[in-house]
Amino acid sequence: MFVKYLCILALMFTVSNAKMFQSISEDKGTFVQKGNTKLYCPNCGMNLPKFYKTNHIHKNHQYCSLHCLAESNNGKKLQDAKVVDTKSLKFIGVKNAYYVVNSTKKGTMSVHSKYAFAKEKDVQEFRKKYGGQIVDFAQAYELAKIDLKKDTSMINTKRQKKVYKVGKKLYLAKCNKVNPEAFESIASLKAGLKSECKISKDKALQAVAVYLWDTQKLHKKMGAIGSIKVPKDAKCPICGMFVHKYPKWAAMIDADKKLYFDGVKDMIKYIFSHKEDIDVKNIYITDYFSTTKIKAKDAYFVFGSNVYGPMGNELIPFSSEISAYAFKKDHFGKKVLTFYDIDQDVLEEIEEL
Ligand SMILES: [Zn+2]
Ligand SMILES: [Zn+2]
Repeated sequence: MFVKYLCILALMFTVSNAKMFQSISEDKGTFVQKGNTKLYCPNCGMNLPKFYKTNHIHKNHQYCSLHCLAESNNGKKLQDAKVVDTKSLKFIGVKNAYYVVNSTKKGTMSVHSKYAFAKEKDVQEFRKKYGGQIVDFAQAYELAKIDLKKDTSMINTKRQKKVYKVGKKLYLAKCNKVNPEAFESIASLKAGLKSECKISKDKALQAVAVYLWDTQKLHKKMGAIGSIKVPKDAKCPICGMFVHKYPKWAAMIDADKKLYFDGVKDMIKYIFSHKEDIDVKNIYITDYFSTTKIKAKDAYFVFGSNVYGPMGNELIPFSSEISAYAFKKDHFGKKVLTFYDIDQDVLEEIEEL
């Protein structure tokens, strides 16, 4: 078993260190941003040398990809942008660039790769080897915009499935407490984490940055994976609101009939009036950070914080005690409770806040 584990570790190590087509060493490229975020994409925080061959520049921002350029400029036309010539590694104006889209070389932040070239003979040579279609910038940019939705959902799924979990674990184990609210971009957060975490690998630092930025700064709704699936017509039995509008606050009692609530508070009210009919094993809540579904009996609840749910003051649920205390500190919570600590007095106290 242990040997098998070592083998898997070794394999992961090899894979993660295999150089990607996009990657170059820092001294071979041009990096126009200043300060400690020089080597990070301002839109996603990723390392620019690692994804250099798809880098784009616009107004002194250097993006890892056409995806990030399009996303952070809301799809606006950008004739004055620059792109890396895949062959020479120098930046060229996008107006003069030939793009190859959908080649067999992997893309950056996109299912459809998009590589640019300055010279026609280079673009032909690349296409002969790796396939794809040759287009101009306007067409490549259009494609990037069309891809944006799909790519963003692909990226979110990957983050929900893996990155947040990895990032959170690393953050709790290797970093001092960092407040993402104090940073203006994911790139500056990542640069700040460098001195607060004992992490040297870029990929690991990226995971921490993405985890903190998405879950604590953007309070991202992280639907889908492992979350409580709320039917469109489900109404909270206490307040009558449609619960699917508030997926990150959803709570559920999985009895003969499934009951959905737009927050823990309303669910508790319901439970108190139907105590004898409900088995605690069938009560689920949504972890505030990951938006995954967890059993209420295993959760920790922050009471009296400055974060409000759809019904005002809430008992905000977390899957781990550490997260609950971290949240309590950041958001001036009054106490951390387990499910079994929540009684009529707590409910009354909330109502009085
Ligand atoms: Zn990016
Ligand atoms: Zn309600």
